[in-house]
Amino acid sequence: MEFHTIIEPFRIKSVESVKFTRREDRVTALRAAGYNVFRLHAEDVLIDLLTDSGTGAMSAAQWSAIMQADESYAGSRSFYRFESVVKDLTGFAHVIPTHQGRAAERILFHTVLKPGQVVPNNNHFDTTRANIEVEAAEALDLVIHQGTVPHVIHPFKGDIDLAALERLLDDRGDLVPLVMVTVTNNSGGGQPVSLENLRGVRRLCDRHRKPFFLDACRFAENAWFIKLREPGQAGRTPKAIAQEMFSLADGCTMSAKKDGLANIGGFLAMNDPAWAEAARNLLILTEGFPTYGGLAGYDLEAVARGLEEVVEEDYLRYRIRSTEYLGEKLIAADVPIIRPPGGHAIYLDARALLPHVPPLAYPGIALANQLYVEAGIRGVEIGTVMFGMRPDGTERPGPMDLVRLAIPRRVYTQSHIDYVAEAVIAVASARAGLRGYRIVSAPKTLRHFTAMFEPMA
Ligand SMILES: *Cc1c(COP(=O)(O)O)cnc(C)c1O
Repeated sequence: MEFHTIIEPFRIKSVESVKFTRREDRVTALRAAGYNVFRLHAEDVLIDLLTDSGTGAMSAAQWSAIMQADESYAGSRSFYRFESVVKDLTGFAHVIPTHQGRAAERILFHTVLKPGQVVPNNNHFDTTRANIEVEAAEALDLVIHQGTVPHVIHPFKGDIDLAALERLLDDRGDLVPLVMVTVTNNSGGGQPVSLENLRGVRRLCDRHRKPFFLDACRFAENAWFIKLREPGQAGRTPKAIAQEMFSLADGCTMSAKKDGLANIGGFLAMNDPAWAEAARNLLILTEGFPTYGGLAGYDLEAVARGLEEVVEEDYLRYRIRSTEYLGEKLIAADVPIIRPPGGHAIYLDARALLPHVPPLAYPGIALANQLYVEAGIRGVEIGTVMFGMRPDGTERPGPMDLVRLAIPRRVYTQSHIDYVAEAVIAVASARAGLRGYRIVSAPKTLRHFTAMFEPMA
């Protein structure tokens, strides 16, 4: 007999209550938060889909490893365990722990970038872009065209445009210190990159003698998509696929808050000994000694165990299927989303759903706020508020107006996801009543985190 129900590959040993609130309480809480869900108290949220970063549930094995950790300042046993897991997975010679992904980015770019240089990527994540721009260098996005159109179906919408990369290396190669590819492509909807594409990047980097780094935050989810979708890969383990992905690169930055299955942590890893030495020297200045890098010994243990669990087939099958399950329910109800569903999140197309709310009245904010008021669900606007501000202080529509529903790892069950689908469909069917917002106050940079809004009449 064959069964098709994909169940959570765990049972629950410890539970955390969620707080049910009344609609009128949520209206009050949202008003007090300046109509910005970032400013809510998390306790007032029923299902929190703000991010999948650091919000996962750790396993019993991770918690027990935490109790066994070695908190020695230098040369801790927990560091050597962490280092051997990362080396086994990535093959990189030098492993430098950091407190999270952006610290790895800062250390890499501050040691290797010069003003006026250019770093290509499929899509830079916002902290990656910011850490490049702060060095007065350029962060260039070269994702394939299909990766920029929400409704276009393509198996590897995260692929980098190899022809555009080749043109860049031919024309301005002397300004490119390294090439990056983000797996999966977070800013492009959590879409995967194929092995074939990574091999193409490797070939171009060899020809132009450039180092190739992965932004590896969701390497395991990417490996699973390769197994499912890339010809010839179905019979391989996700770990073997991940090892091949890393073998094509010369180094990586990693946030262990994603596919490290930990609440905090990250690393920078590479083969070049001179770059690694410069990175370690900067690490000591701002993060800590190279055998802990700003983490506790117990964090290193949690990440080491997390990196082993995240490549398990049963976990990845459930992980990717549960995101897809939410996507399928919404597609069946004609709710517009980025297709096909990515690995870690569903992206609602608020601009398509709310044509009567123009981009400068923030349809993403309107939709995110209504989801909170009606159902206690917190998502995040990825649109004109996040990307619409120009350096000269004027505003224009962002490339898209999306609401991201990010799924924390191993946290919510199928009934939670059923509830989310029901709520999104109900809010979408009442869309005619949703109104836009205007900004009351906002800082100059990264305004989406702290801006305050008011509803339009
Ligand atoms: C989260 C993330 C980062 C930054 O990691 P932090 O741990 O949040 O600092 C970098 N790149 C990508 C693709 C990410 O998703």
